[in-house]
Amino acid sequence: LNRRLTEFGTTIFAEMSALAVRTGSINLGQGFPDTDGPEEIREAAVRALRAGHGNQYPPGPGVPELRSAVTEHQRRHYGLEYDPDTEVLVTTGATEAVAASLLALLEPGDEVIALEPYYDSYAACIAMAGGTRVPVTLRPDDGAYRLDLDELRAAVTPRTRLILLNTPHNPTGTVLTRDELAAVAALACERDLLVVTDEVYEHLVFEGEHIPLASFPGMRERTVTVSSAGKTFSLTGWKIGWITASPELVTAVRSAKQFLTYVSGGPFQYAVADALRLPDSYFDALREDLRAKRDLLSAGLTEAGFEVYEPAGTYFVTTDIRPLGETDGFAFCRALPERCGVVAVPNAVFYDHREQGAPFVRFAFCKRTDVLTEAVSRLKGLR
Ligand code: PMP
Ligand code: GLN
Repeated sequence: LNRRLTEFGTTIFAEMSALAVRTGSINLGQGFPDTDGPEEIREAAVRALRAGHGNQYPPGPGVPELRSAVTEHQRRHYGLEYDPDTEVLVTTGATEAVAASLLALLEPGDEVIALEPYYDSYAACIAMAGGTRVPVTLRPDDGAYRLDLDELRAAVTPRTRLILLNTPHNPTGTVLTRDELAAVAALACERDLLVVTDEVYEHLVFEGEHIPLASFPGMRERTVTVSSAGKTFSLTGWKIGWITASPELVTAVRSAKQFLTYVSGGPFQYAVADALRLPDSYFDALREDLRAKRDLLSAGLTEAGFEVYEPAGTYFVTTDIRPLGETDGFAFCRALPERCGVVAVPNAVFYDHREQGAPFVRFAFCKRTDVLTEAVSRLKGLR
């Protein structure tokens, strides 16, 4: 294994899901729903492959039906206008979208500012692209994690090429506010930076609202917006993602993407086009279902003795384990299956400054209510 990758080992999600299987534990570690997305959308995929739609290589940028549906979605939810022919690229999940963006846009040695704690693939992809990551830490404060705009400003150097943003934010559940996003946008314009913004949790917002960074003045032409069907439609295995950006940025990202996977998921692309056109009631029901689960798990974790950072968005809740007399989230998560049959993820893996993340542990609540109730009752036995 080359020197760029050795520091990353095995992704925590694979490690923790394997631990859950091995110990027969409830898996609140890796974020994936335990019920599949809408039946009508799964049926649409079956229909597509029966009809011979997408069984052979789809077009490099994605099937036109999905590219149109992505532009309709951006218009309907955010009033953003994109051209389906030149300003959309379908990718193999958000993961490839981020990877291809970094591979396409970075020169070796370019600095990338990423919010810490960061989704684990960001660090590895920055490294694979030869970039240097510059973490800006979200700090826990009064029940929520916040971005320090002065720290963000101070992190920009002449070598900074782009900001890799993520809102709603995994793992903290922070949803950046309009003012925070306006400040990020102003900084990007002032210092002539690109922004890759990972908005995969755009529809999972319980407090406040999701505002795409691309909607701020001066941002449309310097922003690559990333999203995916995984979270919004509970179809993480399909790995259908996309970017929206200016024609120049889409062309650049496609230059990298064409040599990674070229294309993927033909029949699923047609079905995701249908999914994006579901009525508002679908998106509302998804959010309200997850809000109830957030409340259930947050209350249960609080009762079990954790300090809970109740998320404004995503399907993760970050907790502080120090009230339980614990300080090391890694050790805690490795022992948790044995102690009570539950799997969680140590937030330290999402930090360069590991000590900052040490006492924090993330639980996913995209699970059936009975599963969450059972997990809570097990966790209450910890004390
Ligand atoms: N970005 C973030 C912030 C995520 O949490 C995830 C997935 N869990 C991804 C990207 C990857 O999305 P996909 O499965 O569409 O590749
Ligand atoms: N995004 C999911 C999480 O944060 C997992 C995705 C993965 O396993 N790569 O848990």
